[in-house]
Amino acid sequence: MRKSLIKKVDLIVLGAGLAGAAMAWQSHWQGWTVAMIDRLDARSSSRVAAGLVTPITGARAAASWKWDEFYPVADAFYRRCEQETGETFWRVEPALRVFGSQTERELYESKWLSARNDRNPLSIHADWVSAEENSGLKAPFGMCQIGPAARLDTKAYLGATQRYFQAHDAFNQFDLNCDVDLVFDALGQAVCIPALELIGKRIAFCQGIAARENQFFNDLPLHPARGDILLVESPRVQLQRVVHHDAWAVPVGQHRYLVGATYDRAGAGSENSVSEEKTMQFRAELIQRWESLAHGTFQASHHVVLEQRSAVRPASYDRHPLLGRHDVHDNVFCLNGLGSKGTLMAPRLAELAIGAMNGTTIDRVFSRSRRKVV
Ligand SMILES: Cc1cc2nc3c(=O)[nH]c(=O)nc-3n(C[C@H](O)[C@H](O)[C@H](O)COP(=O)(O)OP(=O)(O)OC[C@H]3O[C@@H](n4cnc5c(N)ncnc54)[C@H](O)[C@@H]3O)c2cc1C
Repeated sequence: MRKSLIKKVDLIVLGAGLAGAAMAWQSHWQGWTVAMIDRLDARSSSRVAAGLVTPITGARAAASWKWDEFYPVADAFYRRCEQETGETFWRVEPALRVFGSQTERELYESKWLSARNDRNPLSIHADWVSAEENSGLKAPFGMCQIGPAARLDTKAYLGATQRYFQAHDAFNQFDLNCDVDLVFDALGQAVCIPALELIGKRIAFCQGIAARENQFFNDLPLHPARGDILLVESPRVQLQRVVHHDAWAVPVGQHRYLVGATYDRAGAGSENSVSEEKTMQFRAELIQRWESLAHGTFQASHHVVLEQRSAVRPASYDRHPLLGRHDVHDNVFCLNGLGSKGTLMAPRLAELAIGAMNGTTIDRVFSRSRRKVV
């Protein structure tokens, strides 16, 4: 008699970007069997992202939202992933902030650099640094270093995750047509994918912007935001650390830098993909920002643009994540809306999603139900 090839797992994870990878690891570590599915879209947000984790953000120099909840989990999570895979992709190092004006300098001074902020509750710290200590940076308004800050090499992390789950026979490269390929058993207790001979007790949709493509979570209040990054080669620039200024720059070796990022809601609009129309416009914008950073602070004389990477961030209207159970199917969940902060938020949100699968109520600020599609 033919042995059944059907594989039964505790959790099917659809999407192996930052959200899906975090779901897979966290559920694997709590003892669940997992099956990941991904079509390996090279233009997915996670494969384009710079992977920066920055504690102070925005024009108001505010602490990143729920930093003290997200960062400790993310730090422990990526360190554990490195141990499990034997690969290196997580680097913790203070980032530099080169002030662009006297106003910005005073803002940082009053919020972060004055003595009374020495014992801030979020463990975020900012310290003055002199330009001479940092590859001769020119910073007429001064600069500081901010920590803890980190960078995830997202391609390396996602590649290592894929290889790990492949080795455990738990990764399927497959373009799932959710409206056709998913079947629910009569009692609603299992999700079946006949094409993969796979049965799961539950499924987590971690599709990013592609959630709009099928019936399950196409009502998520997503407000996509296209982003572009350049890979440039600038022989005369000698950056050792991530620098934030008008743009950010990430040294990736051999005088090469990632420079980014644009943020364009209108450009993403109702589309799920990147249109070529604005590509040259964003390229010019990033070159200008790199030149202002490089000429203004490093006296670089020339650069070569080696590559431009574009993707659409799965942002939500209020910039908060979207976590929750499906309205009809009890064993169907989503983790989405990571916006610009997937690296920081995904590990903690995956913990919360697993909690929800075990019956814990999701805090309203994370819940997909807090606001319906506009
Ligand atoms: C230019 C740019 C720069 C960024 N920089 C940073 C940064 O510095 N730091 C940071 O934290 N974040 C950054 N981000 C944001 C970050 O990329 C997102 O927060 C995050 O990647 C979202 O991850 P996700 O897993 O939700 O979605 P995605 O990355 O879109 O992953 C979804 C996955 O699902 C798969 N999938 C979808 N549908 C199907 C299907 N039907 N069948 C099979 N597979 C499917 C896709 O192939 C994909 O792999 C940046 C984004 C951009 C565009």
